[in-house]
Amino acid sequence: MNETLIEIKNLEVRFPVRSRGVLRRQTRYLRAVDDVSFDIRKGETVGLVGESGSGKTTVGRAILRAIDPTGGQVIFHTPQGDIDVSHLEGEDLRRFRRTMNLVFKAGPVELSRLSGESLRLFRPRMSLVFQDPYSSLNPRMTVRDIIAEPLVASGMMRNRDDVDARVRDMAARCKLNLEHLRRFPHAFSGGQRQRICIARALVSQPDFVVCDESVSALDVSIQAEIVNLLKDLQEEMGVAFLFIAHDLSVVAQMSHRVAVMYVGRFVEYAPTESLFFQPRHPYTHALLTAIPQADPDADFHPIRLTGEIPNPLAAPEGCRFHTRCPHAQDRCKADIPAWREIADAHFVACHFAEEFDFSRPRA
Ligand code: SF4
Repeated sequence: MNETLIEIKNLEVRFPVRSRGVLRRQTRYLRAVDDVSFDIRKGETVGLVGESGSGKTTVGRAILRAIDPTGGQVIFHTPQGDIDVSHLEGEDLRRFRRTMNLVFKAGPVELSRLSGESLRLFRPRMSLVFQDPYSSLNPRMTVRDIIAEPLVASGMMRNRDDVDARVRDMAARCKLNLEHLRRFPHAFSGGQRQRICIARALVSQPDFVVCDESVSALDVSIQAEIVNLLKDLQEEMGVAFLFIAHDLSVVAQMSHRVAVMYVGRFVEYAPTESLFFQPRHPYTHALLTAIPQADPDADFHPIRLTGEIPNPLAAPEGCRFHTRCPHAQDRCKADIPAWREIADAHFVACHFAEEFDFSRPRA
């Protein structure tokens, strides 16, 4: 799991903001993601946490090229040609070969530069599980057709028997009853629908999947089932996950490393244990103290952050957290804290991280 799969360097996503009225002139930009750098290893789960509006989903979608980054690089390190091309023919095969030249012979692929057909052919290597298992399934398609869609839409498989075999295999791995493949989504509960979403996301055997708040809409017991299923599938298939969530306790169960985001920037990124027991950023510390405790006698003193998360259109100068940070000093209002490695594989953006001791007792 030490081999890097995706490198994200100085990723930036800006959205134009237009004035009201007839002319709708572009007046300024909303910086949804600003100078974000990190890497994801093969077969690893990286958790991404932060309050609503911090830019977590935008990071996931920019990596998948569901939205176009406006700056920085997303570099996908690929193994040599393991896409099933046995049923490609004619123009599709020629296009695929051109893509293979681009994708594999040139070594790492800069995803942020792929476009058109090359991007379409590359898409099966990456996938997405959405938050809402109700609205993310087409009610007019059978479960079989929903799961088969990535294979058919990408042109990865054309032979119906092959598609059926792959769909049945994936459904079984996701613990779906094979007789249910002929049914429509309305017949299923939230947990079963999320299993269908996961089967659809993994049927093309991608290297990388973004799980965007994938368990947030589910009951706690179903959440645990889905988290265990994702972990089992990761072990079987070696897929890497970017697991986006606002529930830190779920992220801790699922992730090997965790990144914390605040108003479009990463503030801390570290191995899960290091981040949970030795956080170095005041924002991470505040989030951790707010995790509810199952034991009613446990020491529970959440740090109350005053004020709202700032509007990214008017993000504070200097450290973006200074308007709510209990440790802010004058320097924090003017200077942007550097993103630096403070301990082994533990990155933080705070001027005074060395001075804080937020260590937490291990259970
Ligand atoms: Fe707080 Fe200053 Fe550190 Fe930002 S740089 S987290 S405001 S102490």
